[in-house]
Amino acid sequence: MSASEGRPIDRAYEQRPITALRGVGAALAQRLERLGVAQVQDLLFVLPLRYEDRTTVVRIGSLLPGMRAVVEGEIQLAQLTYRRRRQLQCSLSDGSGFLTLRFFHFSASQQQGLARGSRLRCFGEVRRGPQGLEMVHPEYRRVSAHEAPPEETLTPIYPLTEGVPQGRLRALIAQALSELDAAAVRDWVPEQVLRPLDLPPLREALRYVHRPPREAQLDELAAGRHPAQRRLAFEELLAHQASLRLLKRAARTDPAWPLDDPEGMAARLVTSLPFSLTGAQARALAEVESDLCSSAPMMRLIQGDVGCGKTVVAAIAAARAAGTGLQAALMAPTELLAEQHWRNLSEWLRPLGLPVALLTSGQPARARRSALESIASAEVRVIVGTHALFQEGVEFSRLVQESIEASRLALIIVDEQHRFGVQQRLRLREKGSKYGRIPHQLIMTATPIPRTLQMTAYADLDVSVIDELPPGRTPVQTVVVPEQRRAEIVARIVQVCRSGRQVYWVCPLIEESDELRSQAAEETAAALAQALPEVRVGLVHGRMPPAKKDAAMLAFKAGSLQLLVATTVIEVGVDVPNATLMVIENAERMGLAQLHQLRGRVGRGAEASTCVLLYRAPLSPLARQRLQVIRESNDGFEIARRDLELRGPGELLGTRQTGLAQLRVADLMRDADLLPRVQEAAELLIAKYPDNIAALAARWIGSGEQYARVG
Ligand code: ADP
Ligand code: MG
Repeated sequence: MSASEGRPIDRAYEQRPITALRGVGAALAQRLERLGVAQVQDLLFVLPLRYEDRTTVVRIGSLLPGMRAVVEGEIQLAQLTYRRRRQLQCSLSDGSGFLTLRFFHFSASQQQGLARGSRLRCFGEVRRGPQGLEMVHPEYRRVSAHEAPPEETLTPIYPLTEGVPQGRLRALIAQALSELDAAAVRDWVPEQVLRPLDLPPLREALRYVHRPPREAQLDELAAGRHPAQRRLAFEELLAHQASLRLLKRAARTDPAWPLDDPEGMAARLVTSLPFSLTGAQARALAEVESDLCSSAPMMRLIQGDVGCGKTVVAAIAAARAAGTGLQAALMAPTELLAEQHWRNLSEWLRPLGLPVALLTSGQPARARRSALESIASAEVRVIVGTHALFQEGVEFSRLVQESIEASRLALIIVDEQHRFGVQQRLRLREKGSKYGRIPHQLIMTATPIPRTLQMTAYADLDVSVIDELPPGRTPVQTVVVPEQRRAEIVARIVQVCRSGRQVYWVCPLIEESDELRSQAAEETAAALAQALPEVRVGLVHGRMPPAKKDAAMLAFKAGSLQLLVATTVIEVGVDVPNATLMVIENAERMGLAQLHQLRGRVGRGAEASTCVLLYRAPLSPLARQRLQVIRESNDGFEIARRDLELRGPGELLGTRQTGLAQLRVADLMRDADLLPRVQEAAELLIAKYPDNIAALAARWIGSGEQYARVG
């Protein structure tokens, strides 16, 4: 049964707390909370990461290294050995061959159970060992000779959180599945939507993804293309789409300050700029300004490739707020970027009599205090900062006008929003409401999202696109060079520096930790400084104190440093037009979007620039193709499109880049073909079944009730 119009919505059973399950106490409930599980139904939406086939016992003689398999046999020999570490080693045979089981941790009773003659069923990964094939710490249990077949369905492997072992989670989900009926999980997607899609009903889909039959296609499941998965993906996309659109509608009725700029600051800034706006900038600005003059809050995204000049459009919007006697705040994802924006905005706005304040968490206490004071007193009207802008203790100035007391904060600008998710966007908006007037919001991103996906990724936003670069830029030339030719590249640095230009060196991407990344950068900087005695080398990495980082960046910008060694902290926004060479180490390990962002740091002046992608051979065919995409294209949209084509199934890159990172089953790129239907369904839900949206949001967006605020 699917949800139908007019039927009373009773969600009591669906909303049972997780503690209603047998054996779940407060402690376990708390740990489950970290997986987003608060209610029984949430368990059903913890979806497997992958599956294992434990449905058949594999003959030991046919095992191959790398297989994960169930085997069964009798222990022929069990012995304690001490090669390097104390360990228990058992030799298991089923008549077709021998397999070594190796245990490093075992209790006395386990050891007893693993004695010669015991019959075991084991599951584990097969690898090559000193005595042939082996399994290290397999899952095992003792069995009789006529045991039932192992598992009837494929075994799901779930994401884990500390304190909830795989077996426990699996058992809990099994319990929730066993009572999977109409009351426990209601299908909130109307039947008229589902019927033409030819996808299974919700409960069937859930049963399938948690318990796929043994004949299920593992590769289809891994690729996320099974109809059961598509059914869930559809519902998830619908939940996001419908609730974001509802939110957008509701927001239209919220009150905002119209920014009509009687002081004419915006126009004065435009005429005082050292350049004229490109056609695309002017178009985006016109859209922004028309929104800002309205008494409903703007929610607009400016999308434009790196270097297209989004910042100046934001600055003009901020000037408009200031010219109305109100305040504007620009929020950047990193301190480095916040400081750079602060310098740019100061340069543009100070001559108009508009000082700009900077607020970051790393700044000295005195600077912070004075910034806070000038913000509270409205002495400054334009404020730039990091997340620190919206922390406790930051009070914007208040204004009493026509019997309303409201905050002067009239415009919030968020830069590089792919670092902020939908959730943060919502939180900002929520904070806005305590200001008495909802601030206008302008979000800027360089993440190229194909137009077909925009409606979904940014369902709550209007979008302006800046699709033109300022004139006089020479496209960056990109070359792909193996690590063996490093010396040549280093020699090239000297030439570039001698000609008065500057160079970025981006250190390899080490996943493990910020600390390792920083350490690698330090070592590279030291080595380069030694190899290049005539070059002034600087260093920027994530673990440096902000003041030092700032000093290095400033020195690079001023030209007193010629070579800047950096981790990917310089990825976004950094603007030094005199830098004409960028070297990226281990480029084969970086995402295409990230490489494109990094490369955008050069080619910002009129001079021809080069980007060298160093790679460590051998390259896989896929890695080679990916580097070729970057070499051949300078267009972010084109790169995103090719990236999508090259991505293998199961790889989840796209969603992370869109800010929809919290999608659980759906992948915006992979499931793009569902989107037109999702749009239609969202419209239908808003028109006819608004209550279902709240239920869907609660199910899919966690603390999603706030999404479903109906205006
Ligand atoms: P992004 O869109 O990547 O944030 P920026 O705003 O940092 O780009 O702009 C890149 C550079 O281009 C800056 O140095 C900026 O001052 C300059 N710029 C912006 N608009 C123009 C323009 N219309 N003409 C010339 N230069 C411009
Ligand atoms: Mg920028």
